[in-house]
Amino acid sequence: MIPVNKSYLPPMEEYNTYLEKIWESAWLTNNGQMVRQLEHDLKEYLGVKHLFFTTNGTIVLQMAIKALNLSQKIITTPFSYVATTSAILWENCTPVFVDIDPQTCCIDPNKIEAAITEETEAIMATHVYGIPCDLEAIQEIAEKHGLKVIYDAAHAFGVNYKGESVLKYGDFSTVSFHATKLFHTIEGGAIITDDDDLARAIDLSRSFGHKGDDHFALGINAKNSEYHAAMGLCNLPRVPEFIRKRKALTEAYDEWLKPLPIFRPIVPDEVSYNYSYYPIFFENEKTLLKVKQNLEDNGIFARRYFYPSLNELPYVKGESCPVSEKLARTALCLPFYYDLTMEEAALVAKQLKAAMASANGNS
Ligand SMILES: *Cc1c(COP(=O)(O)O)cnc(C)c1O
Repeated sequence: MIPVNKSYLPPMEEYNTYLEKIWESAWLTNNGQMVRQLEHDLKEYLGVKHLFFTTNGTIVLQMAIKALNLSQKIITTPFSYVATTSAILWENCTPVFVDIDPQTCCIDPNKIEAAITEETEAIMATHVYGIPCDLEAIQEIAEKHGLKVIYDAAHAFGVNYKGESVLKYGDFSTVSFHATKLFHTIEGGAIITDDDDLARAIDLSRSFGHKGDDHFALGINAKNSEYHAAMGLCNLPRVPEFIRKRKALTEAYDEWLKPLPIFRPIVPDEVSYNYSYYPIFFENEKTLLKVKQNLEDNGIFARRYFYPSLNELPYVKGESCPVSEKLARTALCLPFYYDLTMEEAALVAKQLKAAMASANGNS
């Protein structure tokens, strides 16, 4: 059986050395030593000013909306994981969907201005599969119209643009350290900003809005534990190795799948990419469904990611976004993880070719 994803686990002895320290100190959570160490190491690795380690990569989207005092319309992408849209709705704001660029799968900056009204307060965009949005175009539009920018960078850990982390862009960037992501802390996430006042607001809101007996602002519980930080401390030094391995797998898949009538998203120039997923797009949904089933019958599990296009969620009244809808119906992410061997990847490619031949043969 080849799963679509498998979490990386460091050598158990290494994690145990952290566990022993936790047992000695009996300090399990609340801004412990390992949480502070991980935040320090993450800031250094990413070259960012303020970073707060949190319980997951969804609550940080909500905290960003709260910290920016947003209450009306937020322009957003329909091609993302559901958390991007649900964070907007959960904070009682209204998502306004703008269609995507078919090459990068990120929000199309050329379509943003037409969607701006009096009520528009912000843009929340996702760096899809780790491919950065058009950062400069979005910044220019935001400045021109006085909009805030939040990047859901859940896929973009370790991605650089023009030599700097993409997490430096926007009023806030957020990341997820969920077990399925490139760098993980089992569950976890972080929120990043350059702005000192916003950083102070996040520091407070992450921990109930108070320091000792002094209560300053409305808060929530979004802090993470020493156990999760310990996993991060084990995994962080391995990130360059994770990216190297994924690059090699990507190049192998690219070579093997070259003859097939599939489309791959395009990583723009000046991006140092993290190879976080291996998505392919079929010509139509019928082929995708047949191929996915054929792979499953042969013990290979691929995932429809992202599906559906978020403007088509049953609890959303979304604008039509034909590009996103088409891509969401035809996108499939192939098995892709650190422990995947070249032999297994070759097997996936071979079965995919056979599945496509048979799908086109009896369609
Ligand atoms: C994983 C993911 C999230 C949510 O992160 P969690 O840590 O699982 O809450 C949000 N947005 C995108 C694009 C994601 O892929």
